[in-house]
Parts: sequence; C-alpha cells; structure tokens
Amino acid sequence: MSIRHHLDEATLLSYAAGSMSQGMALVTACHLAMCSACRKRAQHSEAIGGALMETLTPSPISDSALDAVLAAIEAQDEPIQVETVRSKPVRPVDSDVPAPLTDYIGESFDEIEWKRIVPGVYYFDLPCQSGGVSRLLRIAPGKAMLPHTHEGNELTLVLKGSFTDEIGRFAAGDIADLDDQIEHQPLVDSSEDCICLVATDAPLKFTTILGRLMQPMTGF
Ligand SMILES: [Zn+2]
Repeated sequence: MSIRHHLDEATLLSYAAGSMSQGMALVTACHLAMCSACRKRAQHSEAIGGALMETLTPSPISDSALDAVLAAIEAQDEPIQVETVRSKPVRPVDSDVPAPLTDYIGESFDEIEWKRIVPGVYYFDLPCQSGGVSRLLRIAPGKAMLPHTHEGNELTLVLKGSFTDEIGRFAAGDIADLDDQIEHQPLVDSSEDCICLVATDAPLKFTTILGRLMQPMTGF
C-alpha cells in the first residue's frame, strides 16, 4: 500500500494528548494501523507528550528539562508503542477493515446495514457521535459526495476504492486531514465502491441548496 496523504502534525499531537473526540481518534487510529510512517511519527509525539507530563511537578524546573527529557527518550532501547494500536494485530488477515474499526463493525463491510442517502451513496453511523459525526460512507463509482465545508476539522480515511477532490487523489490508506478553510467535493474514480471512514468535530456545512435540504435527513 503506497500512502500519499498523511495525518498532519497538529492531529498527531492532539491524538497523543488524548484530546480528540472519540470519532476523530478512531479515524486517526485506523490510519495509524494502515500507515507505518505515521505510526513512527505518533510514537515520537507520544514520547514527547508523556515525558512533558512527567515534568509537571510543583517545583520549578530548569530550562534544560526538555533537553534532558528528549535525551532520555533518545536513550531508550525499547520502541514506544501506541496504546490504541497495540492491543490487536494491525489488520485482520484478508480484511479491508483496519483493526481499530473491527470493534464497531466486525471484519467485513458486507455485514453492515447501509442506509441510502441518494442512489449510489450510502452511510452507516458509528456509535460514537459525541462531539461531531463519525460514519462510514460508501459511494458508487462516478458518484460525488455533496460539496461541503466544515465548522471544525474533518478526517476522511479511504478504506477501499479511491476518490479525487480539489486537493488530489485519495486511495486506500490515504487520509484527508482538513480544516474549516476548505470546500471540497470528493468524486469516486475507482471501478469499485469507495468506502471511507469520516469524522468531524463539528457538523458539516453543505454549500448547495440540495445539500442544505438533505441535511436534516443525513444528519451531517
Ligand atoms: Zn500516514
């Protein structure tokens, strides 16, 4: 799997700090399960975050404390594991479902009770809806998602198939890590259905009349 779109630094840090919504953390954990490059970066973020926590003592610390902490991290022989990914193998054998997602849907997309939005566009809400949206989208070849912007951040991880939007082409393993500045309309360009895991920390804002009309129905 050659992954071209990765998590940005701010997302990794807030994941390491445990300050994400459950849905955003799930998408992040799934990308980490699929992407060894981001796993390495996440381990580094975790190490820095954890080490800084240990320096939170009531007594004043010297300016060299961070240097000492970083030196201690460098000196560690044991690689530091990311907790959420460690509990299971990275990916079940013969499955497109990344391990962190199997707790929610099992090991196959075929067993999901998809709900139809419009012909060719289906969704399934995951049971972690606090503070934003967390859902799977399944979109048929040649179909587009409705154009939208967001009030907060949106993470979209491709699990199967591929899409193209204003930013580029996204295939399995790629993650679109978007902030509220971007309006985009993903168009599925694979010959199979494109299945994505999407989480937002605020509702999406559709930019077309159709999108706004459908908003109460889709719950976005
Ligand atoms: Zn990555």
